[in-house]
Amino acid sequence: MQIFTHKKDLQEYLRKWFSGNTIGFVPTMGALHAGHLSLIEQSKKKCGVTVCSIFVNPTQFNDPADLAKYSRPIENDIQLLEQAGCDIVYNPDTNDVYDGEPSIIQIDLGGLDKVFEGAQRPGHFDGVVSVVKKLFEAVKPTDVFFGQKDYQQTLVVRKMIRQEDMSIKFYTCPTTREADGLAMSSRNARLTIEERAQATNIYKVLKQAALKQGLYTPTQVEEYMHTELKKNSLMQIEYASIVDPTDLKPIIDWQHGAVILVAVKMPSTRLIDNVVL
Ligand code: AMP
Repeated sequence: MQIFTHKKDLQEYLRKWFSGNTIGFVPTMGALHAGHLSLIEQSKKKCGVTVCSIFVNPTQFNDPADLAKYSRPIENDIQLLEQAGCDIVYNPDTNDVYDGEPSIIQIDLGGLDKVFEGAQRPGHFDGVVSVVKKLFEAVKPTDVFFGQKDYQQTLVVRKMIRQEDMSIKFYTCPTTREADGLAMSSRNARLTIEERAQATNIYKVLKQAALKQGLYTPTQVEEYMHTELKKNSLMQIEYASIVDPTDLKPIIDWQHGAVILVAVKMPSTRLIDNVVL
């Protein structure tokens, strides 16, 4: 496995050894777990060469404390990627990604960036599209792999690819879960024992809500989710909503599919999860 900190060297290596190959790309912020590794596995199945980036992007954190607390176990990450058979790691600093000071680019995301995560974390998706665009320009992938765990992010990045006319194939990969159903996340490590015990109820409520599709209205199912999630004393609900899976707008029936989105705040961290119907 080759590790690069400068995109110039990465590009030269790809040109020399992998020209003509499909390039699969998995952007991450490190603190890797089995969810990230499942994206690597998908990329390896589909592409001639797999590149994983590890970069904690400052521009997508609206909360400086969250950025400061973000875990950076780079040695362990590299070991996991090596074991997973990743070909190339791009582990740049801010200067290499942004060619200087971090900057924000504006792309019309058709309002997808203003709701749910965008509303709870103002500026978050401006930071996401800025870094993803820079990383795509650095790696020049043919195929990219993102997790359904961050459902809204998959819509935002797909929209960016269309808006910017990039010729890149986009794959959404299923959410990898702990044995009790909790979606794997680099932030789970911050949960206390009590928080962790309650966190398992997020996916339980999502699954119960999914079973009510067609039997109740989306609004009734949202009410059910609020009632159930509120039983967890350490959880503050940010949203528990059932919306259109393509534009995240409210729905009044189940005819055109749905996605159930949940975000909760716990004392030590916030957690998101979703189920697509
Ligand atoms: P992050 O390092 O949190 O920026 O995540 C990097 C990529 O891994 C994103 O495309 C995430 O959606 C994806 N990811 C994070 N957690 C999971 C999970 N539990 N299952 C599948 N993909 C995930």
